[in-house]
Amino acid sequence: MTAPSLFGAVLRHHKNRVLTAALRGHGLRFASFVRQEGYIGGQWVPAASGKLFPVTNPANGEVVGNVADMGEQDAQAAIDAAYNAFQTWHKTTAKERSDLLRKWYNLVQEHKEDLAHLMVLESGKPLVEARGEIAYGSAFLEWFSEEARRIYGEVVPSPATSKEIIFVRHPIGVASMITPWNFPNAMITRKAGAALAAGCTCVVKPAEDTPFSALALAELAEKAGIPPGVVNVVTASHDNTPAVGNLMCSSPKVAGVFFTGSTRVGKLLYRQCAQGVKRIGLELGGNAPFIVFDSANVKNAVAGLMLAKFRNTGQTCISANRVLVQEGVHDQFLAALKEAVEQRVVGDGLKDGVTVGPLINATQLKRVEKIVQETVDCGAHVEMGGSVHSAGECFFQPTILTGVTEDMCCFKEEIFGPVVAIKKFKTEEEAIKIANATEHGLASYFYSQDVSQVWRVARSLEADHEQVQDQRTIEGCSVYIQA
Ligand code: ADP
Repeated sequence: MTAPSLFGAVLRHHKNRVLTAALRGHGLRFASFVRQEGYIGGQWVPAASGKLFPVTNPANGEVVGNVADMGEQDAQAAIDAAYNAFQTWHKTTAKERSDLLRKWYNLVQEHKEDLAHLMVLESGKPLVEARGEIAYGSAFLEWFSEEARRIYGEVVPSPATSKEIIFVRHPIGVASMITPWNFPNAMITRKAGAALAAGCTCVVKPAEDTPFSALALAELAEKAGIPPGVVNVVTASHDNTPAVGNLMCSSPKVAGVFFTGSTRVGKLLYRQCAQGVKRIGLELGGNAPFIVFDSANVKNAVAGLMLAKFRNTGQTCISANRVLVQEGVHDQFLAALKEAVEQRVVGDGLKDGVTVGPLINATQLKRVEKIVQETVDCGAHVEMGGSVHSAGECFFQPTILTGVTEDMCCFKEEIFGPVVAIKKFKTEEEAIKIANATEHGLASYFYSQDVSQVWRVARSLEADHEQVQDQRTIEGCSVYIQA
């Protein structure tokens, strides 16, 4: 069947007319992955309760579409399907799994424009970033399709002549995956790609704000020929999520739980996994320092901050949260930063040239508003922005606050919005002390052109890190992503 005729069929029969019309409005040619049902055991199924929940576009508040509001019964069916599929999937060869992952990757690539548009509609992120995420997200499928063949064992010298010690790697079984709305595609491919390559099967529960991207990936997994039950997607509203999440952690048929999201929910899942002593992988909140030393190339530091702060409107776990600028370059840095921020274009992510989209929902907007208000009440100065943006209910103005001190809430909480909070510092020791004064060592950034300082600071920051050196300017940027 050719893509346009399939698209036509979908438009005729699909209940999510609003969504398909929106996609068609953007000239998309292939929208069969716009699904309303969950995906369990290779079947597209409604919630056992028959309930649906709406997904809204944060740029304009319109309902993008409705998806199945699944509960415990549906989650159990998905776990059963994954458990049954594991019995045969884990016996497949690495080459078979590699080929299927590669096919999945190729299909994501083929449909990258539609997937990116779909992501903008439900997440609000600018199209250019959504395209970037599809490239980044699909790269995990490609990577793991290659790594599937490299799951080696080990032979260890034995202390006894009559014994051999051999380590053989086995897939653990069913992997539960609970994923966030800020990277609706990549947080699934990163987890599912690894699981499938190893021979595990999975149950994915996407965030309630962005289920369509997950369902689209499942549709493409099905088209790639990944066997029924190997990938399952359970969509659930905010109300049903705790019960679904609990089962995904506690079911004896689940071998491991993998989560990206808030520290609060991560701790809860950790507790729920304890009873069954499940393997668990958590990527939780951050409070990244971004340090600009007097020795920095200010232009590059500003460019770095624009990326680290404004990507996804500041809604990433490795967003720069506490900006520390040394007094010698503070004013120069601030002037250049203001110029860069002024060039940001706020609006609907599907409009040409837009670089700052809405926050994910009104709750998140209120959180950001409250953090800014409290920071200003405590004495910080608003250099730019500072309030809700007129573009819509979920938009916040790109904001710069100066005169911030460590005790203000914007340095203690994850802002998760387009707000740069700057504190001036005097010495390297002071900056390191402030940077390390957090329990969230997820990521850190610094700019310096002094080679000794680059190494010294990289070793002192209590966020583990990769050091990236720009050969021309010898700058250090340390970023750690907790696995
Ligand atoms: P955020 O605050 O960024 O939305 P959350 O941690 O609340 O981050 O959400 C990340 C993922 O965790 C989403 O898929 C969400 O539905 C899920 N989630 C939220 N609460 C629970 C819970 N009680 N049990 C299991 N999953 C949950």
